[in-house]
Amino acid sequence: MPPFARGAPPTAPSQPAAAPVYDSVIIGAGHNDLTCAAYLAGAGLRVRVLKRRPVVEGAAVTEETAPGYRASIFSYLMRILHPRIQRDLDLARHGLRVLPCSELVSPVSREDYIQLSGEVARTRAGFARFSRRDAETYPAFDTHLAQAAQVVRKLLWETPVDPTRSDCRGISETLRFAWKYCRIGRSLCRVLDLLTMSAYDYLREWFEDERVMAALAYCASIGTLAGPRPPGRACVIMHYMMGKGEGAAGWGVLRGGTGVITQAIAAAACECGVDIVTGAQVAEVRGRDGRAVSVVTAGGDEYRARAVASNARAPHVYLQLLDPAVLPPEVLREARGYRTSSTAFKTNIACERPAPLADARLRAPRRRPRQPGLFHLHAHRARRGVSRARLRGREARPLVAAPLHHLGDAHHRG
Ligand SMILES: Cc1cc2nc3c(=O)[nH]c(=O)nc-3n(C[C@H](O)[C@H](O)[C@H](O)COP(=O)(O)OP(=O)(O)OC[C@H]3O[C@@H](n4cnc5c(N)ncnc54)[C@H](O)[C@@H]3O)c2cc1C
Repeated sequence: MPPFARGAPPTAPSQPAAAPVYDSVIIGAGHNDLTCAAYLAGAGLRVRVLKRRPVVEGAAVTEETAPGYRASIFSYLMRILHPRIQRDLDLARHGLRVLPCSELVSPVSREDYIQLSGEVARTRAGFARFSRRDAETYPAFDTHLAQAAQVVRKLLWETPVDPTRSDCRGISETLRFAWKYCRIGRSLCRVLDLLTMSAYDYLREWFEDERVMAALAYCASIGTLAGPRPPGRACVIMHYMMGKGEGAAGWGVLRGGTGVITQAIAAAACECGVDIVTGAQVAEVRGRDGRAVSVVTAGGDEYRARAVASNARAPHVYLQLLDPAVLPPEVLREARGYRTSSTAFKTNIACERPAPLADARLRAPRRRPRQPGLFHLHAHRARRGVSRARLRGREARPLVAAPLHHLGDAHHRG
């Protein structure tokens, strides 16, 4: 990564000023789009970001929900914003303040709960009330997962190699990649387990108590109709670890709501010279000779570019923005077969006073950072809940993730 350029990037020399050709036009100004834009501009490229809404925010957005209260409308916790991105873009200077939210309570009955913590000793003590063996196992599990997360964090910075390429460049890239990672072969197997196993099977190798397993597997059921049993869901257990390390804490609440993430990245991107246009819904991507060459907004403005990056939904890009006639048949087939449906909804509640916690063990007013920040209700019923939701299209006791943002700290006061 070259050092980040400050100020306006160079203009394309051969183009008339009236119709610049950008090195890249990016469709959307969510935090991923803006990160992409900031890195490209930091490398000296000329970048323009086109944004549909009048504000520079996507699903990480803060808005006023009740007079005087600002809330994170969609996403509510920061989980895996890579620490290196935070450093490269100097997000702290641009207003990013992450408050740890690593205390999690998962009720297992009306009377009892399991508490997970960023501190291994506290989680261990929480597990000990249910299974001594699971409590003893937990530190080794935490280390095992942290090592896998470390590998994934490294891999996130790699351009994927294509081992099926038989030309010299393809072979040398694959060999270079294999050489670089041959020493972590065993850890790579851990990652493969996480990517292929079910959350249930993965945890079953370590733990015996189903309530302990449910508390650790809650992520596997959030936002899906999958539950902890389908293959491939184990990787979400690692989400918690992904935010840790490299100087970053685990999960965090954002001072000012999650919109602050997008705003901080937007500020960093602008500083690198990115040109952000809001209220510019892209209506068409034009192509020539198998390449995207320009985008046209609903208002009729055309922006020419050497490369177009898009973070809009794939079917929207391939079937609506692009002319399907220019697409290879296999891409068209995949775009047509792409199917998603929503399984979640969110309610923001502004309370006048902190929620009363019946159990004295959860009340720790003088040790605020240790107060639970997140409750997961019905995690131990997730599997049954998913089956019922599939059958009936709804579930009376769905999995509920309830983050308690401490308004007394004025994180979200407008
Ligand atoms: C209810 C909910 C809760 C969530 N909770 C969490 C959480 O707690 N923690 C967490 O880490 N993640 C959470 N997520 C996921 C997280 O919010 C998203 O993964 C993240 O915001 C994606 O960012 P992005 O930049 O990739 O895309 P987005 O934030 O979706 O941004 C894409 C942008 O592209 C724009 N766009 C689309 N089409 C066009 C077009 N044709 N022209 C111009 N612009 C266009 C959109 O307006 C949007 O601004 C949650 C998501 C939801 C919906």
